[in-house]
Amino acid sequence: MKTQVGIIGAGPAGLSLALLLQRAGIDCIMLESRSREYVESRVRAGLLEQNTVDLFNELQVADRLHKEGLQHHGVYFNFDGESIRIPFDELTGGRCITIYGQQEVVKDLIKANSDRGVKIIFEATAAKIEDFETTAPKIYFKQNGEEHIVECDFVAGCDGYHGIARKALPAKCYNEFKKEYPFSWLGILANAAPSTDELIYAFHERGFALHSLRSEKVSRLYLQVDNDDTTDNWSDKKIWEELSIRLSSKGFMLHTGEIFEKAITPMRSFMIDNMQYGRLFLAGDAAHIVPPTGGKGLNLAVADIKWLSSAIIDFYNNNKEEKLKNYSADCLRRIWRAQDFSNFMTYLFHKQAAHDSFEYHLQKARFEYIQSSKAQATTIAENYVGLKDI
Ligand SMILES: Cc1cc2nc3c(=O)[nH]c(=O)nc-3n(C[C@H](O)[C@H](O)[C@H](O)COP(=O)(O)OP(=O)(O)OC[C@H]3O[C@@H](n4cnc5c(N)ncnc54)[C@H](O)[C@@H]3O)c2cc1C
Repeated sequence: MKTQVGIIGAGPAGLSLALLLQRAGIDCIMLESRSREYVESRVRAGLLEQNTVDLFNELQVADRLHKEGLQHHGVYFNFDGESIRIPFDELTGGRCITIYGQQEVVKDLIKANSDRGVKIIFEATAAKIEDFETTAPKIYFKQNGEEHIVECDFVAGCDGYHGIARKALPAKCYNEFKKEYPFSWLGILANAAPSTDELIYAFHERGFALHSLRSEKVSRLYLQVDNDDTTDNWSDKKIWEELSIRLSSKGFMLHTGEIFEKAITPMRSFMIDNMQYGRLFLAGDAAHIVPPTGGKGLNLAVADIKWLSSAIIDFYNNNKEEKLKNYSADCLRRIWRAQDFSNFMTYLFHKQAAHDSFEYHLQKARFEYIQSSKAQATTIAENYVGLKDI
């Protein structure tokens, strides 16, 4: 098979890239190791920054997002039962976030790609990338036990944290940064009307809790748990009791309901400081992971793609390689900012040491500063909705 851009991975990164290239008349083939049904039902992120929604609008893939997504103009921060609200629109000149499940984003993007004639090959696992230091790279992939080859001008490694693209980069061409946090998140989806109109992040002496939502009938909630904890230790009853304690504040009443998804996710920060080599370019989780506290994972993947698509389009349409050369540097500014914000949010809200310890008092001082300083609240709001220009 021959194409201009071979894309590995049909997650938010690969699917957005394909649509942007297709719109510019550039041919691509996308390989996805899982089935369409599997990727369309994989529950992950749900918070879309303003820039991400703007891009989906521009690509004309946001009709359902506007019908079913929930726009949030603020967020609640609780600390030891005291609640404050950060008003995004007031502090950021009208910018906001939209709550819309990643599996719905993926469904919309796959449909748009199929409708617009982009070739996505499902259940096709890329096994090897070769010759990417030349102008004729190749992707070897397997489907139904048979080996095939995609010959292309560029390879986009959008294959997530466990993919092959990052491993194909020469080890000496990047530095790796990694941080494992000493806690995990127990996340649930429940058929329960949200007990709040906007997300609640709560610090509690028993640990962090987050109340998020997916629709008017479905709530998404999380509890900080130990890294060695398992879902077997958490009956539905125990989960609701714990959420009710950790989220409690004046006038708050938790709605409960049937839990239909329960999983524990470790918290980690990871990144490499060079996302390209020759004609191989990495985007999204293939190059970086952030703890979910700041809601940045999916949004960073889409932000990388804006740089990558613009660089590839400039190469084909204007015969210019400048943007391709600068791709990593352009992406890294936003990635480091998001790493810092995600790390800040994680340390602000998770219980790390005994109540009344030095660490606890630092956390409390940070919370009180957000409460009293419009400058600090603005810093949080602009990072949370996503910085406009980097
Ligand atoms: C359990 C979980 C929960 C999360 N929760 C949140 C959250 O609450 N908030 C948040 O902001 N972010 C969250 N994230 C992160 C967010 O989902 C990711 O940042 C986002 O999916 C990144 O998109 P991507 O396209 O880069 O990668 P992915 O979505 O991982 O897509 C990569 C695709 O490549 C495919 N693939 C891999 N290897 C190959 C191969 N060899 N050949 C072909 N295809 C391949 C995979 O099947 C996958 O479909 C979560 C992630 C996980 C894993």
